[in-house]
Amino acid sequence: MSAPDDARLRLAVQKKGRLADDSFDLLARCGLKASQSRTRLYARIAELPIDLLLVRDDDIPGLVASGSSDLGIIGGNVFEEEALTGGAGEAEIILPLGFSRCRLCIAVRKSQDYAGPQDLAGKTVATSYPALTERWMRENGVDGRTVTMNGAVEIAPRLGVADAICDIVSTGGTLDANGLKVAETIFRSEALLIGGGGTLPPAKQATLDALLARMRGVMRSRDAKYVMMNAPRSAVDAIRDVLPGADSPTVLDLAGAGDMVALHVLSTDAVVWEHLEELKALGASAILVLDVDKMLS
Ligand code: ATP
Ligand code: ZN
Repeated sequence: MSAPDDARLRLAVQKKGRLADDSFDLLARCGLKASQSRTRLYARIAELPIDLLLVRDDDIPGLVASGSSDLGIIGGNVFEEEALTGGAGEAEIILPLGFSRCRLCIAVRKSQDYAGPQDLAGKTVATSYPALTERWMRENGVDGRTVTMNGAVEIAPRLGVADAICDIVSTGGTLDANGLKVAETIFRSEALLIGGGGTLPPAKQATLDALLARMRGVMRSRDAKYVMMNAPRSAVDAIRDVLPGADSPTVLDLAGAGDMVALHVLSTDAVVWEHLEELKALGASAILVLDVDKMLS
């Protein structure tokens, strides 16, 4: 394949990196397999008329804003930074995807006492997210400065380039290794499906609707469990209240079991051991918890 076809919906995804793995995983769970082209610039999806553009994540908001791609999957941190600086044009969020969650934090030297935003007054903060950092400073009345770095931000304090940094933190291991500690969390990020903000031609809109139905189905089924058990008929309401996000249970008579019934409940949120212990206390037995593979409603 040489180039994407105009009739097909274009979706820009990160070629490789932390967002890429989760993006391809979501597509696979939507039943969409990407055939990797040899050039590794495009990949065609066989099941729906969608072409993937495989790019660096930083380029995604711009590709969507310019209409070169109809859609993109991008970290909220990058999208929000671009939106604040005008780089995202009219692009807008279509659906938050709930994966690649991370936080953007201001970190200071471990030796510095940190009591609150006022301790950053007059300080220089090194970051790849100057607009988000400056917005936080404004909102918190901090009169500080940012210096933009596009990599190795965490070494800036040791280089004497900055007093503090603002960067993505997951475990805090990188900060620790560089003698830094978290002072503030300024932004919580997750992956977003973004679009150009305008109207799509009907055929592409239909493809987008199909894609969204599948994505929503995957997200809804991610934590969902189908719970089956035997229980006293009188406990049915109490059992529904125990299970998170439960709909009306299906109640089936158990032959020759008196007051006992079989209950089937779809729980849309995670079911944990504590829930099962509560069910047992309500008289439930033979409790089975099944994963939900797909859900369409
Ligand atoms: P590229 O070469 O495409 O520019 P990159 O180095 O900018 O890649 P990655 O490190 O792959 O980017 O991170 C991409 C995005 O993944 C981040 O912008 C953020 O939204 C998300 N992300 C980063 N770190 C984590 C993490 N530890 N856990 C989950 N998501 C993360
Ligand atoms: Zn990047």
